[in-house]
Amino acid sequence: MNQPTVNHDRAVDLVWARSLEKIMKGEGPAAVRSQLGDEIDSFIPQVATGVLLSANPAFARILYTSAYVAAKRNSFFAMRRLGMPSDFFWKFDMWSDEKAQSTISKVVERLFKQLLHAGRQGLLEFLKVDVPATRFEIAFSDCAECHGMIAERTACNFHAGTFAGIFGAMLDRDLDCVETACIAAGAERCTFSIGLPNNRDIAVMFDKNMTDINVTPIPIGRLDTSSNIERRTIDIGYYQQLLSSAISGNLSTLERTCFDTGTMVGNQLGEVLKSRFGGITNESVSAIYRELRYLDLTIDLSSKPDITISTSGAPEATGALADTAFVPFLAGELQSLLNMAGHKVNFSRIEKHSETQNVDLIFVPEV
Ligand SMILES: [Zn+2]
Repeated sequence: MNQPTVNHDRAVDLVWARSLEKIMKGEGPAAVRSQLGDEIDSFIPQVATGVLLSANPAFARILYTSAYVAAKRNSFFAMRRLGMPSDFFWKFDMWSDEKAQSTISKVVERLFKQLLHAGRQGLLEFLKVDVPATRFEIAFSDCAECHGMIAERTACNFHAGTFAGIFGAMLDRDLDCVETACIAAGAERCTFSIGLPNNRDIAVMFDKNMTDINVTPIPIGRLDTSSNIERRTIDIGYYQQLLSSAISGNLSTLERTCFDTGTMVGNQLGEVLKSRFGGITNESVSAIYRELRYLDLTIDLSSKPDITISTSGAPEATGALADTAFVPFLAGELQSLLNMAGHKVNFSRIEKHSETQNVDLIFVPEV
């Protein structure tokens, strides 16, 4: 397999830039995928985060940190693009709660709420500030990260990191964010508290949220029957951002991590196919991907024993992720499905058609 060539920061920044362009122009730039459009079902992204969380408890912190760094860098940039001077929140500690409340509300409404909404990530609402304590409370409704998941406590590590980054950029200091209630744990909306990392409450809750994780990867039943499908679509950019942040925690093993995660996701998807279609066939595999608006694919068995899967519109190979470094994720997914369908094959290589961004994945017999 080739060495990964991805620049994780660049991929994430491209996604942020696209959302920013959307809100500044009032209309979106051209769709990343001309055929399938930019909305995908949140199912695979959620399975991916779920399996990563279950497989490795340290993953919560990796995801939080990647999201934090990217959000802080891009929030600075977004505020400058909107003409806010870098000392906009100068001497914030001296502000009255009223002044802080109205100023932050305005910036959140005008910029950050819309940025997150452009990615169909959820609805951000600034609730209140306590200036002397440097504490901020926010709510996030219809959260794409955890909607439909089941967790004993809280599950939204990507968004906790994102909010810490956004508020950290506004105030130009390091802040931490903890989720205090989560839709996945039965709350009506997710709520978060943001404060200084050395604040005792924040520090205690932060450690608990990062270590005491109990997430059910995905309610598989959501896709069991077509009448049962609870539609929840997200923008392809949000998924790409999530995937980049999740997988790039350790760049030196990017390809391996990507592939292994894909394998786990493929196993979950295979279970869905078995219960939904009674088995895994070429037709059911392409049907489920189509239904999730994830990609178009055809499985070509004519060159057996090799199997070629041609894909079009794969989120791992379009737009911000066009350099194919994340394609091993999809390769792992498809290898699992092929094996569950009775083909004993291993992923061999990628062939990319650069003019269409279509990607062929070639699998060879197991030796
Ligand atoms: Zn949540």
